[in-house]
Amino acid sequence: MCEWLEAAQGTTNCADCNSENPKYYNPNYQIFVCMSCAQIHEEIQCKRGTLKSQRLEVLSEGKKGQAVRGEGNVKVNGKYERFLPLYYPKQGDMTPPDIRKEFITHKYVKETFCTNGNYLKYTPASGGMEGVLEKKGKDKSLWKSRHFVLTPVSIKYFLETGQSEPKSCLPVSQLEIHLEMCDRTRSCLVLTHLSDSGASGRKYYVRTAGGDLLFDWYFALLTAQSAKDSKHRGTLSRAVVGLVSQSKKVSKSGQLYKVGTHSFDIWRKRWFSINASHVTYSANKLSALPQGDFMLGPDYEGYAVEMGATHKMPAPTKYTFQLVTPDRTYKLCADTYEDRESWMYAFNCAIENIIGDNDQLSNSI
Ligand SMILES: [Zn+2]
Repeated sequence: MCEWLEAAQGTTNCADCNSENPKYYNPNYQIFVCMSCAQIHEEIQCKRGTLKSQRLEVLSEGKKGQAVRGEGNVKVNGKYERFLPLYYPKQGDMTPPDIRKEFITHKYVKETFCTNGNYLKYTPASGGMEGVLEKKGKDKSLWKSRHFVLTPVSIKYFLETGQSEPKSCLPVSQLEIHLEMCDRTRSCLVLTHLSDSGASGRKYYVRTAGGDLLFDWYFALLTAQSAKDSKHRGTLSRAVVGLVSQSKKVSKSGQLYKVGTHSFDIWRKRWFSINASHVTYSANKLSALPQGDFMLGPDYEGYAVEMGATHKMPAPTKYTFQLVTPDRTYKLCADTYEDRESWMYAFNCAIENIIGDNDQLSNSI
């Protein structure tokens, strides 16, 4: 449906979350957005009034023409995301609702990314950031207030504010950072501590009272890590490398069924997470330790996603698929057709990105 849009605008992605085929038009900003972002636009007030969007389907030909001649996503993002750092992942459908709302508020209401460095509550130069956050216990689902301190090299937490010895100190370079829904409306930060060999270790779950604070910490952690990762990536903004490099880092988690490699193994529910190229699975959501984890690689090394999976023991639903890696083929099963579609899509994107990422960097630096 978006051929005319691509021809006119050079893009078929939502201006705010980067998901494909946006179906709404926002005449105030002259941008095309997806349904989830359009709903948030309606809730917020900004300098140009309420951001009410219209469904593209119901636009008259005349209005469509106006929309196509309007500024469009690329131009508008050139202003409102000019200084949004490249390491900030725009995750499309996988963006949690509270983070989506914070991002849109920052973008249009506070105009945070219009100015260089404005978004940083934390910068490596400022030395750090601290505050009280809720952390989930290792074994029980009890969330307790803990004092967190982020420095350019690590994040530490203390059982109480004012204590001198931290309970734990995690080097930012050994962390994998992503977001997961911790109840129906709120997401939490998941910090996976990787060992020196890159294997997955303990997972830490952290949440805050409001989405705004979570966004600040999420952003701060990404910034600290990016600065540590590589001097280049930390300072590159979308303005520098152009809008080509819309980061498409895949992050998705949810329930799947998985079966072992022996023919009489039975299918078991597992909580799967994909974070860029790293896949983990555990017995339950919010488990402190994953049962297994592996890295995805590029398709030319033998990584692939295939529809359907056969196994001696019957699968719980007919929506099976398999993830092929050089070491092992993971037979998986989703609850619904849509669920399988979205998982296969996510695994495929993750595999494609492994090549895309390097290409993108070598082209742009
Ligand atoms: Zn969107």
